[in-house]
Amino acid sequence: MIEPDADVIIVGAGPAGLSAAQYGARANLDVLVLEQLVPGGQAAAIDVLENYPGNFSAAGAPARTGQEFALDMHKQAEAFGARFESGVVTEISLNAAGGLFTLTLSNGQIRRSPAVIIATGTKHRKLGINGEERFNGKGVSYCATCDGPFFKNRRILVVGGGDSACDEAQYLSRLSSQIILVHRRDRFRAQKALAERVLKNPHIEVRFNTRLLEIKGGTTVDSVILEKIPGGERYEEETRAVFIFAGAEPQVPATDGLNTDSGGYICTDQNMASSVPGIFAAGDVRTTPFRQVVTAVGDGAIAAHSAVEYLDSCGVKS
Ligand code: NAP
Repeated sequence: MIEPDADVIIVGAGPAGLSAAQYGARANLDVLVLEQLVPGGQAAAIDVLENYPGNFSAAGAPARTGQEFALDMHKQAEAFGARFESGVVTEISLNAAGGLFTLTLSNGQIRRSPAVIIATGTKHRKLGINGEERFNGKGVSYCATCDGPFFKNRRILVVGGGDSACDEAQYLSRLSSQIILVHRRDRFRAQKALAERVLKNPHIEVRFNTRLLEIKGGTTVDSVILEKIPGGERYEEETRAVFIFAGAEPQVPATDGLNTDSGGYICTDQNMASSVPGIFAAGDVRTTPFRQVVTAVGDGAIAAHSAVEYLDSCGVKS
């Protein structure tokens, strides 16, 4: 008989995966978490996690960073017994004979478990314009807290109109007073409070109805070509860096029978159960109206609870 590697395998160690790991381990499941990089996912790049309830300093000092928060969640899950391994899961299939899921990793290794929680989050959407690939890491970035300090006091272009663009432009405005934020529409998609902060920030010049067409330079970025919408008037703007926040795309391992929506996000019910019995999804990777650290953490707790009930019902754990 094939032995499982754990009762439940959690794919991804962002806020949803870490919360599921803690709740699962505390419910006495043998939990294995597979993570491709470091714990925290995209939340680890959040400069000030100011909208997580309770993560607030009344004394006026900044709230904990996303990274600090994620590291504490990781320690907490480990303290309750969750195990962590590095690995990128590319495929999940059901081994009907043993009732176990087989998770195939990019290095060819296999892990098996009777229940799986997919908490793989999203990856940055690319614009697909000239210069984006060529200057990636040489002036083009998708993470202000990671790369912003390289461009202190330089002219920086930010692209996008969502929460990420506004949050990250705010962060960059503490490093440079020359931030230009271009957005393709005439208003922000971001939450009102974030948008208003950006519009009032004297270090950020907002240009609505403007599209980034091309990124130019030698070995690093020197300038960009921008286009006004409507009208199509094009002009060149000098800049040393381009930070792109054009939204996100779900990262879903190939899984037989898994229903996704038109954007590729995993469809779940309110118990985080996917269309495949025994596979649950939590956090940004699933169809949800609001993607926040706090909602991801809630999803993770529900997914772990549902996995416990599922394993009970199969007689795996009781
Ligand atoms: P988002 O909300 O999907 O916004 C993406 C932005 O990029 C939109 O303004 C969109 O323009 C623009 N865009 C998309 N494709 C583009 C293209 N090809 N060219 C130019 N612009 C393009 O993504 P996000 O800001 O990364 O946020 C993702 C999720 O995380 C959201 O649910 C958000 O609430 C959450 N989040 C929350 C916080 C926070 O609470 N502090 C921080 C970060 C992220 P249009 O508006 O015209 O569509």
